[in-house]
Amino acid sequence: MAQAVLNRDGDARDNSELFDALWLEAETRIIVLHRGRTLIQNGHLQLLNTEQATAGKYRVYLGRTTLALGDQVEGTAIVLSVLTDNAAKAIEPNETNWHELRKSGSGLHPRDAALFTQALAIHNWHETHQHCPNCGAITVMQQGGWSRLCVSEDRQLFPRTDAAVIVSITDDADRLLLGTQGSWDQNRWSILAGFVEAAESLEAAVIREMKEESGLLVTNPVYIGSQAWPYPYSLMLGFTAQVDSSNTPESIKPDGVEIAKLRWFTRAELKAEAKNILLPAKISIARSMIEHWLGEEIVSATEISG
Ligand SMILES: [Zn+2]
Repeated sequence: MAQAVLNRDGDARDNSELFDALWLEAETRIIVLHRGRTLIQNGHLQLLNTEQATAGKYRVYLGRTTLALGDQVEGTAIVLSVLTDNAAKAIEPNETNWHELRKSGSGLHPRDAALFTQALAIHNWHETHQHCPNCGAITVMQQGGWSRLCVSEDRQLFPRTDAAVIVSITDDADRLLLGTQGSWDQNRWSILAGFVEAAESLEAAVIREMKEESGLLVTNPVYIGSQAWPYPYSLMLGFTAQVDSSNTPESIKPDGVEIAKLRWFTRAELKAEAKNILLPAKISIARSMIEHWLGEEIVSATEISG
């Protein structure tokens, strides 16, 4: 599960001259986003200095690094700059150097993947909250990019996080249930997941979602960890659960909409077939939950995201 790689430095957000102050620090580094993509070189985010990243649509202060890495000292301020098409072209005209997290995240250092995730999630929120959800008036950015203000009602809006549960279901023989989504290539397998509904507990969401997608009643949901997933600004909450004794593992019935096929895997089967099937990307919580059940890392030629 992803560890915090930045001190988010919330106190600094109230400084009305925050970005001027950060631009005076020679060490400040900028992660640039252009249409949800960023610059990656040799498996690392290409962070720019304040002279390289001048004009942007808007900026968000992400925080300060908690570790020294490469040429960056501990405590380096990291700022997200969201670029216009022209600004992006001026910085890097070659389109192939702009990368999506979904496609390139697996090759990234975990710290960089976490930074990219944070930048993308807050960017996705700003892009979709230019207007107040209550009255429709224009909103403006505040607090270093961590809130927006409805100018008509003086209403403060905060970044959203959509909770989703992701569940590794096992049976009495300790087999793991994997499914393929209807929209996926039929050879892509992952554990099941779904969004938490309004006023629903996480445990209730696990039981409802698993029943909907697999036809199985599961029991004993136990939380094991979480991971931010910036599509668009989700938090994946990982649970284990078991098949309830009121039904059998064989009573699985894919919903036919979200889940096209379901299958129980023994550890030996998954290891034997790992090279021929597509599994979730290494940076995903789904992959780490599957490997947690398996008890070892999976060596797989092909990966998927999500
Ligand atoms: Zn409003």
